[in-house]
Amino acid sequence: MSGMGQGGGRGQGGGRGQGQGQGQGRGRMGGNASGTGGECRCPNCGYTVPHQVGVPCYQQTCQKCGTNLVRA
Ligand SMILES: [Zn+2]
Repeated sequence: MSGMGQGGGRGQGGGRGQGQGQGQGRGRMGGNASGTGGECRCPNCGYTVPHQVGVPCYQQTCQKCGTNLVRA
């Protein structure tokens, strides 16, 4: 009984963890901040209406469910 067992086991663990995190956040609220444009949205059913100038959204009510609208 001559048993020759050759176990050549090489374990090479080359693990490189390079984490390059570049976070460039450019936030521009472009456009018209105040004035025309925008929508008023119903938080209940999602109904939207064009925002009327001079009339805050929360003073308007949804035509479907009557919930006060919020600025979308
Ligand atoms: Zn509604």
